[in-house]
Amino acid sequence: MKLLRFKTGEVEKKGVLVDGKIKRILGTFFDNYTITDEVYELDEVHFLPPVIPSKIVCIGRNYADHAKELGNEVPSEPLIFLKPNSAINSHEGLIVYPEQSNRVDYEAELAIVIKKRCKGVSEEEALEYVLGYTCFNDITARDIQKKEGKFTRAKSFDTFAPFGPYIETDFEDFDNLYVRSYVNGELRQNGNTKDMIFKVPYLISFISNIMTLYPGDIIATGTPEGVGELKSGDVVEVEVEGVGKLRNYVSKEK
Ligand code: MG
Repeated sequence: MKLLRFKTGEVEKKGVLVDGKIKRILGTFFDNYTITDEVYELDEVHFLPPVIPSKIVCIGRNYADHAKELGNEVPSEPLIFLKPNSAINSHEGLIVYPEQSNRVDYEAELAIVIKKRCKGVSEEEALEYVLGYTCFNDITARDIQKKEGKFTRAKSFDTFAPFGPYIETDFEDFDNLYVRSYVNGELRQNGNTKDMIFKVPYLISFISNIMTLYPGDIIATGTPEGVGELKSGDVVEVEVEGVGKLRNYVSKEK
């Protein structure tokens, strides 16, 4: 099932995708919902982020080839950082190029959406806490990251956390999904989650033993090799197998 949030006029709604159309649902994604007969075409709605997380936990250097392309070692434990939820952006949203940066990169990632309160869980139990998965673009001001050696400022600008358009709730494992990015329609990254160093159940367990995860929280699992630069006017897309494509527009305008 593909879950989404969207707006028609000023009203925020939730829906599921059925045969290429949106059917409105009532209730919550995390508990019970009912599917109504209210139907919308995809091109008549404004997409919203499919959930509003209390936090976005990101994994750095989780693919060996990507660690190498930026001249980094592969970490011996997951390297985690947070993006603030003020950075949240939706499918079709504008990525605003900050004045402080001259080098903004895309990073295509598989993101996990948490279903229920998750604290101190084991690797074996971890997937019980997953609502589904989605596409994530870990937008990064690479020049600032390189200059500071830190992640927070470089990755936290407003609009730097696009995800969506849907949460796919049908999954068995996350160990063989392609993760791709395109800039202006041209393929730039073509990775597969089988190459992740730390796998999804391990990441959930690891993080939940540090911080409690809440329904809707996001874990962005790292990017494969092939990251690169975005320019104002570019169209960037992230595709994760089973979800679809997350599309965003890069702009210097606010
Ligand atoms: Mg990343």
